Amino acid sequence: MNTLFLDAQTHLKAAFSYIDISEDIQKRLKYPKKTTLVSIPVRMDDGRLEVFEGYRVQFDNTRGPTKGGIRFHPSVDLDEVTSLSFWMTIKCAVAGLPFGGAKGGITVDPKTLSRLELERLSRGYIRALADVIGPNRDIPAPDVNTNSTIMGWMAEEYFEIVREQRPDVITGKPIHLNGSLGREAATGKGALYTLLHWVKSQNIEPENTRIAVQGFGNAGFHFARLAKQAGFKIVALSDSRGGIYSEDGLDPERIMHHKKTRHELKAMLYCDASVCDEAEYKQISNADLLKQDVDVLVLAALENQVTEKNVAKVKAKVILEVANGPVSAGADDILFNNNITVLPDVLVNAGGVIVSYLEWVQNKTGLYWEESEVNERLKFRIVREAETIFNLARDKALSLRTAAYIHGVARIAGAIKEKGTREYFQNG
Ligand code: NAD
Repeated sequence: MNTLFLDAQTHLKAAFSYIDISEDIQKRLKYPKKTTLVSIPVRMDDGRLEVFEGYRVQFDNTRGPTKGGIRFHPSVDLDEVTSLSFWMTIKCAVAGLPFGGAKGGITVDPKTLSRLELERLSRGYIRALADVIGPNRDIPAPDVNTNSTIMGWMAEEYFEIVREQRPDVITGKPIHLNGSLGREAATGKGALYTLLHWVKSQNIEPENTRIAVQGFGNAGFHFARLAKQAGFKIVALSDSRGGIYSEDGLDPERIMHHKKTRHELKAMLYCDASVCDEAEYKQISNADLLKQDVDVLVLAALENQVTEKNVAKVKAKVILEVANGPVSAGADDILFNNNITVLPDVLVNAGGVIVSYLEWVQNKTGLYWEESEVNERLKFRIVREAETIFNLARDKALSLRTAAYIHGVARIAGAIKEKGTREYFQNG
């Protein structure tokens, strides 16, 4: 069966083929450590009882407590959550954070719920999983369709259960509930720092770089907004309803402002307006956006957007993976052979978890930093890891993804080895 998880593991096998790594370690990274499935009963506003399916997969905790977001989406299933937990494991290692990887989710279209139903569902998820998460065990955060408001409800539910204030149990919280300055924009900002470092290494000027962005949510919007400020030209944007194009460039901030003010928010959180409501621009489909003749194609929506079926249509010179797993393993090989550079998700979108780590540190110490300090720490860390990965890829003529996996896996392997492998016991 060709599952998303098997596809994700292809990259791991590629990395293993370049490094001398114990068979024990290879076996350990094939399976998630713990998978928890829960049912979450929710009393709906009209009195009905609905039961939702929830998941938490803790993939590996060798390097520290597991860390990963919670997704609310109709397509959430065990295969998707397991794949996302695996990517989080690699990503935390790539970023050099003292965390393993996890992910959670609920199979739901949250836009169909009222705000109170959404709050009951979010709190129910924490009640069902309070025994498996914890500030030094597993620390959730926001992902697709979850945000700081939902993290605030979830943190408060956890405090009620354990009967103490533990803000370090969840990151991505509202600023007034001990969140970190800079967390909201961190994923987009980290992606921009990575792209800036890449164009610098190639002697390319941002001003001469045209970008198309698929996905105009938290990560895609902040990336597009900051990239425009840095001098890049954003020529196309899309969301789940479709896209828009302008050769003269788009203003992401203005478009987001229109999205938020022209429509009522569902559950006071979700905007069902679209970039397509901007009637003055040329309308394009999501499929068209992927085919644009641009310098950089930014994938900031969901997994499996560029696959073997549509990869031949990609004309961009560089793909920036802001989403997790947006390029399938088969498509990735084709892009590499066609000299299209893929800046990989496990590096590019690590800004979110890096600032989540900084939030966790602030919660643990009780010392809160200015936004400029958070941003400096984010930039230092992501640029340091990008530099190592770019050099490794260049020196060994590897794809940036394989270089990133080698870099991350070496850290995980080091930790597993210190805890004991067959060779360790035989030689010891
Ligand atoms: P979000 O819910 O805020 O936004 C998702 C956006 O994608 C929405 O604009 C939606 O309309 C759009 N979309 C959905 N399907 C689409 C399609 N087929 N074509 C075009 N657009 C489509 O979610 P987010 O938090 O921005 O997450 C986006 C991706 O980034 C996910 O893969 C997530 O795992 C990853 N990510 C997010 C964070 C974070 O801090 N938010 C951190 C790391 C990685």
